[in-house]
Amino acid sequence: MYQKLEECPSCKHTLFTNHLICTDFSISQESFALVRCNKCGLVFTNPRPDENNIGAYYQSDKYISHANKSNNLINGVYKIARSFTLRSKRQLILSYKKPGRILDYGCGTGHFIDFMYKSGWESVAYDPHIKQLSNSNIRFHDTIQKVSNEDKFDVITAWHVIEHVHDLKITLKLLRKKLKKGGLLFVAVPNINSYDALHYKKYWAAYDVPRHLYHFSQSSFKVLATTCKLSVVKVHPMKLDAFYVSWLSEKYQGSNNMLSAINNGLKSNRQAKSSGEYSSLIYVLKT
Ligand SMILES: [Zn+2]
Repeated sequence: MYQKLEECPSCKHTLFTNHLICTDFSISQESFALVRCNKCGLVFTNPRPDENNIGAYYQSDKYISHANKSNNLINGVYKIARSFTLRSKRQLILSYKKPGRILDYGCGTGHFIDFMYKSGWESVAYDPHIKQLSNSNIRFHDTIQKVSNEDKFDVITAWHVIEHVHDLKITLKLLRKKLKKGGLLFVAVPNINSYDALHYKKYWAAYDVPRHLYHFSQSSFKVLATTCKLSVVKVHPMKLDAFYVSWLSEKYQGSNNMLSAINNGLKSNRQAKSSGEYSSLIYVLKT
């Protein structure tokens, strides 16, 4: 049921230091240990539920990124934020590439890939936890084999996905192989060196154990990219995440103080202006 890693999933070093004990506040209320690799600095959940058992930790309507309900004000705000985020992501991609062939790896409910399809991209999506997408013009796969059989892509996106996959390096290497010459991979992950992470500590919602198996800093992410023969072209902020994550973190620490969440979200973005340590980061990667 639980899998204890004996070596770092990024650099294979075998010595770790205890980092933090976190609770799964959203679903199981179980606690999980995070350790930090003594060599590359990657923080990861260890032990972790194995691939056959992680599914139980996703079984909740509360897990908003996989749900699609608009039954209260918060979800209404979330939808507005999502619309803004969709546009920002498209704008970012268009600043690097003109419309071509795109794969959204871990597409969830498919809003992003649907948006890209409607923006003129030849769109392919993958998610092992989804049965089908509502837009039948998007080629959808629920097995990795079908992704492997696909032709190559100008752009591959993995928005808050990499931190969930058990086969970390295998996945990144597969995505690298699926890039056309000159193609780009966009990977978004939370940043454990952000102000909100350092402020909320074990209550920081983006630790999201045990669903998040890895907890990246910019340096540990860059080591991972290098070991997978990818190089970081540029790092971009996801500024809205600071507010969303702070709001969830306030809930997890029992205060549920919306004003405090907004204040910490602002603080996080303000500090990151000079440090670059935003709550979540988008890494643009090339081969
Ligand atoms: Zn390591």
